[in-house]
Amino acid sequence: MAHFPEKGDRAAWRVSVLTLFPEMFPGPLGVSLVGQALEAGLWSLAAIPLREFGVGRHRAVDDTPAGGGAGMVMRADVLAAAVDHVRQGEPDAPLIYLSPRGEPLTQALAAELAAGPGVMLLAGRFEGVDERVIAGRQMREVSIGDYVLSGGELAAMVLIDACVRLLPGVLGASDSLGEESFEDGLLEYPQYTKPREWEGRAIPEVLLSGDHKKVAEWRRSEAERITAERRPDLLKRR
Ligand code: SAM
Repeated sequence: MAHFPEKGDRAAWRVSVLTLFPEMFPGPLGVSLVGQALEAGLWSLAAIPLREFGVGRHRAVDDTPAGGGAGMVMRADVLAAAVDHVRQGEPDAPLIYLSPRGEPLTQALAAELAAGPGVMLLAGRFEGVDERVIAGRQMREVSIGDYVLSGGELAAMVLIDACVRLLPGVLGASDSLGEESFEDGLLEYPQYTKPREWEGRAIPEVLLSGDHKKVAEWRRSEAERITAERRPDLLKRR
């Protein structure tokens, strides 16, 4: 049986991505905090080449859509063979098909997935995947937004990045997860750093006052103001 090398073997949080383009990984996930966490073994990544499970001399993974129409559809038997192969080593990871039809990826969903054993992700291509394998392998469909990408790999990377930075030990002690956008249903307050004045724009006085209570109140009211202006839907959902 094929063995697919992975980075961070037997890490606490384990990711497998089923893809036609394994060479895209780790890509941007190999740099900065998330990349350092991969090197440190805080999470692991295995890119599973779907082509290896293709059928026939050409290892076909797709075929024409039943009922006619443009494009190609990824075959249920090929995808199921790949999923079943990975499942042997990953009995508990939730299986997610990145799809524009899926439930939206939110901070809450990222936190839910980060708290689990890892994820098994299917990156679609072409017109998508045969509906029967979604039901037959009980895939959860997740979308990263209301637009159509040419493939699920970038969507998988977005999901992985959002989860990995929530894993214990990935962010430094000075990074505060608790005050970020979407925590507590609000967007983040404005941030400033040196210089104190730049192109005639000064840092708000309250932030230089040293009064922690006043700073916290200002940040809270700014977060509420910005959320009301830009994302009133978030306030309604709180
Ligand atoms: N025909 C499909 C439709 O209209 O819903 C779009 C297929 S898209 C060209 C190819 C693949 O990209 C999909 O199978 C999916 O894996 C991925 N994809 C595209 N947009 C996405 C999104 N917004 N979120 C997550 N995955 C997406």
